[in-house]
Amino acid sequence: MAEATTHEFRAEVRKVLNILTNSLYTNREIFLRELISNASDALDKLRFRTNRGEKTTVDKPLEIRISLDKDNKKLTISDTGLGMTKDELAENLGTIARSGSEHFLNDLASEETTDGKADASNIIGRFGVGFYSVFMVADSVKVTSRPAFAADGQNQAYTWQSDGLGTFTLEPSEETEPERGTKIEVHLKDDASEFLEKYRIDAVIRKHSAFVPFPVFVDGEQVNTQPALWREPKTSISKEQYANFFKSLTYESKDPLDVQHISVDVPVQFQALLFIPDSAQDFFGQEQELWGLDLYTRRVLIQHNNKDLLPEYLAFMKGVVDVEDLPLNISRETLQENVLLRKIQQVLVKQTLTKLEKMAKDDVEQYEHFWRLHGRIFKLSYRDYANHDRICALMRFNSSAMPDTEAGKEALTSLDAYMERAPEQQKTFWYVAAPNREAARLNPHMEMFRNKGIEVLYLLDPIDEFLMESIGKYKDWDFKPAETAADDALKDFADKEENKQEAAPPLSDEDSTTFNSLLDHIKEILGDRVKEVRISHRLADSPAVLVSPDGMTSSMEKFMRVMQKNDTLPVRNLELNRDHPLLRNMLRIFKACPTDPFLKDMTETLFDACLLLDGYIKDPQQVASRTRSLLERSASLYTEVRKF
Ligand code: ADP
Repeated sequence: MAEATTHEFRAEVRKVLNILTNSLYTNREIFLRELISNASDALDKLRFRTNRGEKTTVDKPLEIRISLDKDNKKLTISDTGLGMTKDELAENLGTIARSGSEHFLNDLASEETTDGKADASNIIGRFGVGFYSVFMVADSVKVTSRPAFAADGQNQAYTWQSDGLGTFTLEPSEETEPERGTKIEVHLKDDASEFLEKYRIDAVIRKHSAFVPFPVFVDGEQVNTQPALWREPKTSISKEQYANFFKSLTYESKDPLDVQHISVDVPVQFQALLFIPDSAQDFFGQEQELWGLDLYTRRVLIQHNNKDLLPEYLAFMKGVVDVEDLPLNISRETLQENVLLRKIQQVLVKQTLTKLEKMAKDDVEQYEHFWRLHGRIFKLSYRDYANHDRICALMRFNSSAMPDTEAGKEALTSLDAYMERAPEQQKTFWYVAAPNREAARLNPHMEMFRNKGIEVLYLLDPIDEFLMESIGKYKDWDFKPAETAADDALKDFADKEENKQEAAPPLSDEDSTTFNSLLDHIKEILGDRVKEVRISHRLADSPAVLVSPDGMTSSMEKFMRVMQKNDTLPVRNLELNRDHPLLRNMLRIFKACPTDPFLKDMTETLFDACLLLDGYIKDPQQVASRTRSLLERSASLYTEVRKF
């Protein structure tokens, strides 16, 4: 038998090994993913050749076995795959395949996090150092390999051995194991003894290698029992299997609302399994970072929660994407720039929109349920201009035309249904932002719309107003806040008979003039707090309303003020309803005594009420004391009039 020969690693390998053995890494566990992937590839290659009719030297089941030996601090991983010849051992485990690694080596020194540890997946991703990553946890490694095919019957096994410093040795092996394939014996460093614990190894395999297409045994027990469901033919999978897969993927307890099993060949070959969970996702809260899909290549996990495969507005979806042609060692940076992923995203968006459209059409109840769970996230789609019309058609809102229901279960309408209900000349979606239906209904700006029987969308979610502003138009209709409608915006629409109110008697010319003086007086009382005081034509039941002079809605204005930390009150126009009994009585008082102090109290209180309706309360003590004094006076008047 030949003697062991000693070989130098190529220069770039030496550098990488030096870094791997001497630096501290987080995420060292991925060395196992690399070894299992290599084993799985070797099994794949063998299967490919036997399928073509080639004969292996011995028959063996296709499998990967890991055994743990605590006494000797040794982890062994064996596969019954293709194996390597002596030359292949020297070539494959002595050089780095990827060119240009040299270039990155210098960066690597600076690859440190605050606790002095760098993430191992970065270096492995950057350099394609798959096998060598074992030296993060090993102080010596012995690889024994016996080729599975040997035309000349020569399948002597060879052993490659190294401590990862500068050299490796090669020698023929006298051992009978492996009979076929490769056995890697890893002698673990003292600080890597965690990898001698079966539960730890099981967990690492479940995390990174759960769907490797060959059985993986740890100390005789198979760990990867779940098939990679996305790779199975659709017709063979039951609803229950999908549901179980979803639950083990997400730890959700409910079955998913919907499953898409996608298999695509062009422009990118990939398979995907996408789920819509039947529970709301915490996207706007603490768990925002947890969205994304699991990205696999040929059943091996590359990245959890990949965020390039879906647009944000589909962040509620869970699932996996398995791409055929992605290198296992691809780094995060490269992934982000990857055009493949962008193409996949386009396919996933198209298919998902089609799916939702179908649900909205075939099962309204299910779709509304979907909307209540995930609509908030989906609304971020206003930024997807490419799918603008399809997305608008999928949006849902509550509106004045919807029946009352319990809070949180508001009835929903689509924009198309709104258009169908609208009178012929209407070309605007009117909306009002409010915290709830009741508040929307009580908004004085609604009165004009109610009189004309024009439906108004109720925006009950703070994000909705931004949505409306960004959507721009849908099918040539524009979106406008009811609040900013001009007095005559609805003049082309007839009043609804049933809403007609008994009109107050018209004012005489003289009273009209006096009323204008009253307006001046009110303006004097309010001073700079209002811009103008004028007669309103939009009000029916309310005595007064504040209107923004620049067309900004009150909720938007409030939002901006919060953002700018501006706690002053907005200066707006006060519009008064001349036909309202309150104003008519004020006119009577004013006519009798223009300086009556009661007028001031009434004006202040009316103004307070308008501010309150818009959600502002600046000086609660004053408001309360004014209300109390008004109540006192009206109570004494009341007892007098009623002669109690
Ligand atoms: P990569 O897998 O990205 O090519 P590695 O450093 O992990 O890089 O492996 C280098 C090469 O060594 C592989 O391409 C393969 O040819 C060979 N190899 C590694 N592990 C095995 C194995 N278990 N069986 C057969 N060949 C292997």
